[in-house]
Amino acid sequence: MCGIIGLTGYKSVINDLLFGLTTLQHRGQSSCGIVTFQDVFHSKKGLGLINNVFDENALQTLPGHTGLGHVRYATQGTDELLNVQPFTINYPFGIAMIHNGNVINFNELRKSLYEDYHILLETSNDLELILYTFSSELGKKDLKNLTVDSIFEAVEKTQQMVIGAYSAVTYIANRGMLAFVDPYGIRPLVMGKKETPDGVIYGFASESTCFDYLQYETVGPIEPGEAVFIDENKNVYREICLAKGKAFCIFEYIYFSREDSVINKKLVADERMKMGKLLAKKIRKAGLHPDIIIDVPSSAYFFATSLAEELGIPYRRGLAKNNHIGRSFIQSSQKEREQTAKLKLNPIKNIIEGKKVAIVDDSIVRGTTSKNIVRMLRSAGAEQVYFISAAPPIKNPCVYGIDMAISSELIGRNEVEEIKKYLEVDALIYQSLEDLQELYKEESFCYACFSGKYPVEETSEYLSEIETERLGRQAQL
Ligand code: SF4
Repeated sequence: MCGIIGLTGYKSVINDLLFGLTTLQHRGQSSCGIVTFQDVFHSKKGLGLINNVFDENALQTLPGHTGLGHVRYATQGTDELLNVQPFTINYPFGIAMIHNGNVINFNELRKSLYEDYHILLETSNDLELILYTFSSELGKKDLKNLTVDSIFEAVEKTQQMVIGAYSAVTYIANRGMLAFVDPYGIRPLVMGKKETPDGVIYGFASESTCFDYLQYETVGPIEPGEAVFIDENKNVYREICLAKGKAFCIFEYIYFSREDSVINKKLVADERMKMGKLLAKKIRKAGLHPDIIIDVPSSAYFFATSLAEELGIPYRRGLAKNNHIGRSFIQSSQKEREQTAKLKLNPIKNIIEGKKVAIVDDSIVRGTTSKNIVRMLRSAGAEQVYFISAAPPIKNPCVYGIDMAISSELIGRNEVEEIKKYLEVDALIYQSLEDLQELYKEESFCYACFSGKYPVEETSEYLSEIETERLGRQAQL
């Protein structure tokens, strides 16, 4: 999972770019980078959080009316400076690019870029594949008389060749800013704009909350297969280049996106409340009567409060959170995740002691964090602990940009009774996939990590390759 932002205006964009990128920090904490353009590309990248990489001095070195910013959580490629986005190349134009997602035909594409164009990739980041595929296609056009149509044709060719999930923003030097998404629109990308005395500024970002902070107007989402080009005079061109369906990631609503973001015209907080209400019927059916409902802060708050409201049971904040520790889900190794979970949460004894506690979390991935939390609640004196997952059991790995775990690590593949025993809970309730699909029956989401039905038809060809590659990466840790 990554966060991306691109802005193009008339005056220096670095302040807005950096501020906007900060609002996306939750989407990636392993590295970050910014590229701006003024005559040439100016770049600053580093490992770690935005605050650690960018200071006053760095801002002075990033001039220009256009720029791209990226926060990264690695899915393809290692956590090295070499793999930190944005990437730039100099042919056929100066081109800078960022993306969020995961290319699944990585090896095949790398081979064909070498065989067809003699391009030897320098990194293990899949962005390089998208960038070179796009630039190679663009290079076939009449470069002296480049048109918007020819740019969209190059996007379409790229969409045909690059299989997987990607929301990309690119700047073609002295021509304009281009945004495009894969044919299924799996990862989010939203457009924003702001009228200023100097002219209009346009932008693209992973989440609308970014534009709220910047006081830009949110124009709306980029649709599956769509490309948007903004030329240097700020004329906007949009075209669906190659669409194959709609399979937006349901997990963006469950966990990844901020609650104040409007993703695909839905407020994330609202969707979490609807999902929380759905859980009530399962709790009633199981005959559970908790004294209090608490949440695992902070992504489970809306599930827990709406569930409590629906059941008429008090919601309490039973776990205090240290907000200065990163999200445990997106730490790189199991050891890091466990250490982070311990540092991050502390039970509030007076609230927990002697109570039948229903604790709501957004999901259960490996189960180790959940088990630690259950033990915390027991040590704080909980009489009984019921664990409620707002997501259905996660049984399959995500190959579209979320490095959850490999299949064998997913606890959701086991029987519920076994999971209950492992977590040491008195009851375990999962959201039902059928209920979730019924809630969104008018729409088309990706539910593959629950159902195993991957929307991109070529996925099964690459699934074992991807799993083997991940296993290899884990073995090296
Ligand atoms: S597999 Fe799961 S996490 Fe991955 S895109 Fe689909 S719904 Fe989202």
